[in-house]
Amino acid sequence: MTHFVPHDDFRSWGNVLQVPHAVARPSWRDQLANTISTGRQQGLPLLATGLRRSYGDSILNPAGGMIDMAGLDRIIHFDPDRRLLRAEAGLPLDVLLKLFVRQGFFPPVTPGTCYVTLGGAVANDVHGKNHHVNGTFGRWVRRLGLLRSSGEELELSPTEHPDLFAATIGGLGLTGLITWVEIELIPIKSAMMDVENIPFEGLDAFFDLAKKSEENFDYTVSWIDCLAAGASLGRGIFSRGNHSASGSPLPDRGNTRFNMPINVPQIAMNRHAINAFNALYFWNGKRKSGGARVGLHPFFYPLDTIGRWNRLYGKKGMYQYQSVVPPAVQHDATKEMLAAISASGQGSFLAVLKTFGASVSPGLLSFPMEGTTLALDFPNRGDDTLRLMARLDAIVLAAGGRLYPAKDGRMPAQMFQAGYPAWQAFSKHVDSGFSSLFWQRVSQM
Ligand SMILES: Cc1cc2nc3c(=O)[nH]c(=O)nc-3n(C[C@H](O)[C@H](O)[C@H](O)COP(=O)(O)OP(=O)(O)OC[C@H]3O[C@@H](n4cnc5c(N)ncnc54)[C@H](O)[C@@H]3O)c2cc1C
Repeated sequence: MTHFVPHDDFRSWGNVLQVPHAVARPSWRDQLANTISTGRQQGLPLLATGLRRSYGDSILNPAGGMIDMAGLDRIIHFDPDRRLLRAEAGLPLDVLLKLFVRQGFFPPVTPGTCYVTLGGAVANDVHGKNHHVNGTFGRWVRRLGLLRSSGEELELSPTEHPDLFAATIGGLGLTGLITWVEIELIPIKSAMMDVENIPFEGLDAFFDLAKKSEENFDYTVSWIDCLAAGASLGRGIFSRGNHSASGSPLPDRGNTRFNMPINVPQIAMNRHAINAFNALYFWNGKRKSGGARVGLHPFFYPLDTIGRWNRLYGKKGMYQYQSVVPPAVQHDATKEMLAAISASGQGSFLAVLKTFGASVSPGLLSFPMEGTTLALDFPNRGDDTLRLMARLDAIVLAAGGRLYPAKDGRMPAQMFQAGYPAWQAFSKHVDSGFSSLFWQRVSQM
């Protein structure tokens, strides 16, 4: 039997809201039905978590019960001919990489950290640097197991219970507990990446590079200096790469080298420090630009080198703001957002710009759509930060864009509902025994 135990330090990655939670930690699939019924008997609305790499309140549920799925991390079956991996939903990508890269297989889509579980990747329908080639994670999910609060366990696929499948991909954990996931991996010839880094001086150059690079490179992404202004507005470093055709088949160590031991005082994240960092990073990137062969971790997961790097933002935490705007307005809307951020003096060194391809996401609430996505961290400075994000909301709304729930901790209900017109169709599939702080906030009429 798995109990729900009070937990004082159960937080999301952004760390803005720090409230106690009741947490259950099952280890076996046959404990899950009992965990759910225990929670139901205690009157707790439930929610699963993976490795809690979501930034905001989509993984908070203080009045309810959290089911921590990280203990369910076993491989169930692998078919190398069809490249089909079936594993428990708590399997983290870092373990998948350790086991499968040396055999010549790689996840079809990976986010910017390898510390995410299969269940978390499905429930946020995550995207990666190869969105223009492979679309979202959910496109590669062939089947999954879903346990509803009624105790019913279903197998879902694009053809079996297709509506519930579409609600569960990107469904923020609200349709029930994902127990296992079957995904198709992609073949790779080595564990190395051929990468080029190219500095660019503004948005025109960025969009030009993105267009040209998407023809020949599977992975593209840019770091952008969000505090640069005037003639330098929109400058950054464009990074593009492909899996190497030769080289070591063994993955680099990629382990976290250093853990942030404490929350850094927020004063360290002031405008001058960030400005200086960004300028230095840009000029250093310019100096070192060009091609290189690198391991998988430095290319895909540079931030994972520093464990708990979110503590850099201090006790008040940080918000992440990730938007996507459609192609027709992507240049102007991105420029307007960058100008607003630069003028506010807020923003950080973690700012990413990327174009998404035309692939249609399979989930009713999937975030990616064709256009340009901008993602930035903002240290939580209270009302100043909320005002800036409200200003950005207005730009995104006017552009017909939307925000990424996995990164959000405050978007108004109206913003969510405008960005996700399928939300009402989705809500019919929400399991009445499941909830989250995010859902309570954004589903209000
Ligand atoms: C450094 C960093 C870089 C990132 N880069 C990207 C990126 O490039 N692209 C991108 O898309 N995202 C990115 N993210 C966000 C991250 O990929 C997603 O938030 C991901 O879903 C986190 O997975 P997790 O296992 O930590 O899940 P959690 O954050 O714990 O949970 C995520 C969601 O999944 C649900 N869930 C988890 N497990 C289950 C289950 N078994 N059954 C049902 N629901 C479940 C939860 O309820 C929640 O709604 C990044 C995050 C960080 C910290």
